[in-house]
Amino acid sequence: MKSKIWLSSPHMGGGEMKYVQEAFDQNWVAPLGKNVDEFEVAIEKFLIKDKFVAALSSGTAALHLALIQLGIGYGDEVICQSFTFSASANPIKYLGANPVFVDSDEVNWNMSPAYLEKAIQDRISKNKKPKAVIVVHLYGMPALMNEILAICEKYEIPLVEDSAEALGSSYKGRQCGTFGEFAILSFNGNKIITTSGGGALVTTTKEQKQKTIFLSTQARDHAPHYQHSEVGYNYRLSNICAGIGRGQMEVLDERVRLRRDNHSFYKELFSNTEAVDVFSEANSDFFSNHWLTCITLNKDLTKKTTHDLMTAFAEENIETRPLWKPMHLQPVFKDCPYYGETVAEDLFNAGLCLPSGSNITNDDKNRINEVINNYQF
Ligand SMILES: *Cc1c(COP(=O)(O)O)cnc(C)c1O
Repeated sequence: MKSKIWLSSPHMGGGEMKYVQEAFDQNWVAPLGKNVDEFEVAIEKFLIKDKFVAALSSGTAALHLALIQLGIGYGDEVICQSFTFSASANPIKYLGANPVFVDSDEVNWNMSPAYLEKAIQDRISKNKKPKAVIVVHLYGMPALMNEILAICEKYEIPLVEDSAEALGSSYKGRQCGTFGEFAILSFNGNKIITTSGGGALVTTTKEQKQKTIFLSTQARDHAPHYQHSEVGYNYRLSNICAGIGRGQMEVLDERVRLRRDNHSFYKELFSNTEAVDVFSEANSDFFSNHWLTCITLNKDLTKKTTHDLMTAFAEENIETRPLWKPMHLQPVFKDCPYYGETVAEDLFNAGLCLPSGSNITNDDKNRINEVINNYQF
């Protein structure tokens, strides 16, 4: 059996063990310490814009704490992009609030500004003004931030960016993760950089960062004993994981370059295959980290389905994955309101994610080449 080519696997840079070793040497094997502080500083520097970063145990935890700080509670409504991973929507449910899903833009794949505005107006007319909007930069593609921000400002609804897949992406030269009142990052094993598991909340004010750390460490009041006036969470990032993160931040620019090289490879590979579109930036305002390169099959030009193509790759021990199944089509969210048409659904039916790790080799690319060159579209 040929070795497995993964969709997106961890890619260590070499500096990680030094920081992990330091933590062991100093016995800071806990969810606090120098690595946590320095990892936050490294991310803050990377984002450039005046933002604050709190390192947490996951991107999902970060979103949960963002929604808590926006005052989301039982019975509230939060608008969320439908075309995403379930972690963008689950924290709404943790709070007893209700997601309202919005379809995607056909070209950009992220939240449709037109349907966002429609959704807001309709919810307001039903006396249920949304308490927040969650926009996602899916697969690393920056969302239509100009339009989305303008709508959020017009209706005075705070914006939360799910930037879990988009560290290193930018829109008009500004880093994804710096547009919203809050933004989340993820360092799960398959993301562009990883801490094995982890995440961060990007905040606008220092007070929000302090509040995030407070909530993520069981909400302890200032007192010599354990005193609590609020419900706390155990969401802080481990100092060991943060050590991995510090090493990974040193190679982030390189990881973005390599993922973008993969995307160029696929553009070239499919340049003569009319039935296949490689998902790309609409214009130079958008700079995607191309976390995953995705393709769509044009059903007017081929009878083959994404399942057929997945099978052809699987026979060569190459991992591929369908695009995210939209949230409004998920059984767990079937009763939630939805605004849009079938853009996200059509993408789900037509699309496939291809191996996109920054560690895929030329040998791997040759094997991928071979599958495609032998495939009858
Ligand atoms: C990975 C991911 C998350 C969740 O991050 P975790 O660190 O795995 O909790 C949220 N949203 C999107 C779009 C993601 O891809």
